[in-house]
Amino acid sequence: MKLTFLGAAREVTGSCYLLETAEHRFLVDCGMFQGGKEARRKNREAPDFDPRGIEFVLLTHAHIDHSGLLPRLATLGFRGPIYTTRATCDLLAVMLPDAAYIQEKEAERENRERHRTRKGREVAPLYTVAQAEECLRQLHPVDYDAEIEPRPGVRCRLRDAGHILGAAIIELWLTERGATRKLVFSGDIGQPGRPVVRDPTSITEADVLLVESTYGDRLHRSLEATEEELVFAINDALASKKGNVIVPAFAVGRTQEILYVLGDLMRRGRISREISIYVDSPMATRVTEITIKHRELTDPESRALVAWQTRDGGNGPRIRFTESTEESIRLNSLRAGALIISASGMCDAGRIKYHLKYNLPRPESIVLITGFQAAGTLGRRLVDGASTVRLFGEEVPVRARIYTIGGLSAHADQAGLLHWLAGFGAPPSRTFVVHGESGTAEGFADLIRERLGWRAEAPVPLSSVVLT
Ligand SMILES: [Zn+2]
Repeated sequence: MKLTFLGAAREVTGSCYLLETAEHRFLVDCGMFQGGKEARRKNREAPDFDPRGIEFVLLTHAHIDHSGLLPRLATLGFRGPIYTTRATCDLLAVMLPDAAYIQEKEAERENRERHRTRKGREVAPLYTVAQAEECLRQLHPVDYDAEIEPRPGVRCRLRDAGHILGAAIIELWLTERGATRKLVFSGDIGQPGRPVVRDPTSITEADVLLVESTYGDRLHRSLEATEEELVFAINDALASKKGNVIVPAFAVGRTQEILYVLGDLMRRGRISREISIYVDSPMATRVTEITIKHRELTDPESRALVAWQTRDGGNGPRIRFTESTEESIRLNSLRAGALIISASGMCDAGRIKYHLKYNLPRPESIVLITGFQAAGTLGRRLVDGASTVRLFGEEVPVRARIYTIGGLSAHADQAGLLHWLAGFGAPPSRTFVVHGESGTAEGFADLIRERLGWRAEAPVPLSSVVLT
């Protein structure tokens, strides 16, 4: 049997692995490459295999860097089922059409530019909203922990990865010529003890292991320290009753975590219950609804908090979910006492840009940065202390205070990853470190060799290994 690393090899996006046995050929994940021109080129390139020959896909989770090329695979001729958890199916129904919409808008912009400069032919979007919706029909929902057999000789089980709602670790048993080998794909592994999601499932056995390494080189700040920072920042802005708190947040995962943490701080009396919270992102609202629908998958602390909030006619925070553009625009006139959570998480697109436009010039408002801000994004310029930023073609002065809240990460840090690896009773015969920047993945493979004495390596992109 052969395993090929088509993506997320010495980088963090484009997660995709091809598995070939004497009888079968399938993928684990089919993610989009993200970040700049090179990523765009790789997304458009013809794949190194015939999509029509792929029998099925096993999908770890809904994040676009794991799922975002599924509609493209389907447009290139893949007709088989995509097996993933029920919650992931629900999230994909929101996220894939959204990704397609962004692709359509980008192609439109590119074509306007080409028209203007009379350079080049028209480009088509990577895939359209209609194609993304068509692809959703290939989803086959699977329950956590239930064993399925997509083809004779291929068995698998999805286990909770504690990363985002529905995220799974994949256990896969492949039988070829009478011999069975067990492969484990970690997918993205969550940090133990985080709000909303459960802790990652401990896996005890594997012949071949693929482990992610996004934060294989660092430690996160503790949740307690993170809460202290939040309490300080919120009380600073809202106690004076003069300003607002603007929170750029990813719609999937981060928004729900922040809502949990705010509710918990109110229950413990650390912040005022009088704060008006607004979630101003239709996608975040949909994802919050999906999280509530699948509340049996959330951790016991989250369920206890929800029970407290709904007791005696409602103890919880006042949360308003704004839908229409008009409702969103009305938030611009709020001068004080509002905490507005909006997307995108890195401030580059979406409604958050309007809230920043109105609040950045005001010294009495604050901006809470709660997630990773990539180089070149507006969020990164704020973190780096820019005195003015460009928004909608205007220079906007930055007088609001910018607080960076560390420690709310959906990925395990180095200690979290090592803790998960310690769950294996015996060393896998081979361990491949994936889903990390080049230096991080290599460094984490070194660490696994030194600390655990396992055979570990960081595969290069497009390399294959024969597993015997
Ligand atoms: Zn992920």
